Amino acid sequence: MNQQSKKTILSGMRPTGKLHLGHWTGALENWVALQEEYHNYHLVADYHALTTSLDTSELHQNTIDMVVDWLAGGIDPARSPVFRQSQIKEHTELHLIFSMLITKSRLERNPSIKEQVRDLEIEHITYGHLGYPVLQAADILLYRGALVPVGEDQLSHVEITREIARRFNTTWDEVFPEPEPKLTRFARLPGLDGKDKKMSKSMGNALLMSDGPEEVAQKLRKAPTDVKKVRRNDPGRPDVCLIFTYHEKFNPDAVPEVREGCESGALGCVDCKKRCGAAISEFLAPHIERRRQYEEHPERVEEILRDGEARARTTAQETMSAVRDAMKLG
Ligand code: SF4
Repeated sequence: MNQQSKKTILSGMRPTGKLHLGHWTGALENWVALQEEYHNYHLVADYHALTTSLDTSELHQNTIDMVVDWLAGGIDPARSPVFRQSQIKEHTELHLIFSMLITKSRLERNPSIKEQVRDLEIEHITYGHLGYPVLQAADILLYRGALVPVGEDQLSHVEITREIARRFNTTWDEVFPEPEPKLTRFARLPGLDGKDKKMSKSMGNALLMSDGPEEVAQKLRKAPTDVKKVRRNDPGRPDVCLIFTYHEKFNPDAVPEVREGCESGALGCVDCKKRCGAAISEFLAPHIERRRQYEEHPERVEEILRDGEARARTTAQETMSAVRDAMKLG
């Protein structure tokens, strides 16, 4: 399929530094697979990071650390531009126009905002934070994204993007597609503190993609398993155990044997964790090696970003030109 006929996908992450395995299963793995079939843009959402923290002292290093994981994970920057949102001024321009197309009450009804306000105990939400789905709409539509890879929890944002695109198209002219969500398969990987907890660095329950075999083994040793499997030979319930979920993801060939061993009591949790850790480390080894090559040459990462930004900027400028024409601005 040639590059022109491919649909465009926009996906991004906030620059939070080194990635963990939850980022891999929830997003990155999917992005890598999608670049075969689609025309992808990968955005470092550094403006979005400001919605929850004004401390920008580590933003640059966090960006580099995250982009190194993207590249080591298989993102091909020659096919898929990788760029920082803050370096393309058209994002803020389109965001301003879009902010006229949606009401404050619609944004207040956004379930993700309600969750963030609750989880982060925000007393007074800023104008920018409330409006971040509008900035997200600008991010997607600036590249005329037709598909947005998301987890279930992000569906409401795609809906807001669709509403804004519709509103623009009916008010002025058909400039934007109405993007469809593309649900990520194995979206949620549990954290090391329990099967029902999401993996997150801020919760201290993450296996990083840069963790070596020792770190992986040590982190798994402390992880909880089935509470009913107290002694080695007690039968266990793999479906309530997070280690089994990790086996399913990173050690799929051994899953029937692990299930059988766990349920019969033949397999103890210590051995099960060792096997799981070995499989995860085997999976991570090539990633860590590719990571090392980028870490030794940070100038290559900067170059990839600058190149991605030049290519993204060209597309963004074309879109803004169509927007101004449609609106008869200037
Ligand atoms: S044997 Fe493995 S799957 Fe079963 S409870 Fe222990 S760690 Fe979990």
